[in-house]
Amino acid sequence: MSQLPSSRGAVAVFGGTFNPIHFGHLRSALELLESLELAQLRFMPASEPPHREAPEVSAEHRAAMVERAITGEPRFVCDQRELNRAGPSYTIDSLAELRAELGERRGLCLVMGCDALLGLPSWHRWGELLGLAHLVILARPGWALPAEGALAALLRDHAGSSEDLSQKPAGAVVTQTLRPQDISATNIRALLQLGFSARYLLPESVLAYIAERGLYAKQE
Ligand code: ATP
Repeated sequence: MSQLPSSRGAVAVFGGTFNPIHFGHLRSALELLESLELAQLRFMPASEPPHREAPEVSAEHRAAMVERAITGEPRFVCDQRELNRAGPSYTIDSLAELRAELGERRGLCLVMGCDALLGLPSWHRWGELLGLAHLVILARPGWALPAEGALAALLRDHAGSSEDLSQKPAGAVVTQTLRPQDISATNIRALLQLGFSARYLLPESVLAYIAERGLYAKQE
């Protein structure tokens, strides 16, 4: 596997459309990495997200923005495997590949915000996810964890500790409350389409990439 972590500790995968990547993603990822003592956090842009409309900005552009945003942080990696695979980007397939590359014993975590968690029951083979990885849920402003139903049962039945993430390969659910960052890509796209600045919501290097290529441009 490209860019395997050298240190011990779990490897985390943070999937998303990253359309574009912003400080909500980046700051949450860094706090998670440090608080859970992860060896590495892999941003994994979805090529064709199965659960939402295809983003108007290509997967190559979205991955290039992730690459720019994480430059200089060696514990972050941009995992482009979903760009190289035809068809919908199923997380279960990516986790199975990563599991094969990392071996049976290494802790592997799938990170998602609690908005993404609410959609989990519609994911392809979602019942198999915990057999391959742990689940790390990020609290996000404006979103609450499910209190009843299948997801509430999943959170309850598999509740684990941060130690489980490195000591066991998969199967624990851990919820993390980090510094809240009320930033969304939807809001950034809306600002840019209206001709406003999105400065200080995302890295300057990403803003420069957007400006150079006229992405999310104001509609005339
Ligand atoms: P959009 O507004 O287009 O839906 P987004 O800002 O939610 O985009 P995504 O790429 O869809 O970003 O999100 C990838 C992952 O990052 C998801 O699990 C999402 O919950 C999480 N996430 C996004 N923004 C934040 C934030 N501000 N704080 C914590 N988690 C976040």
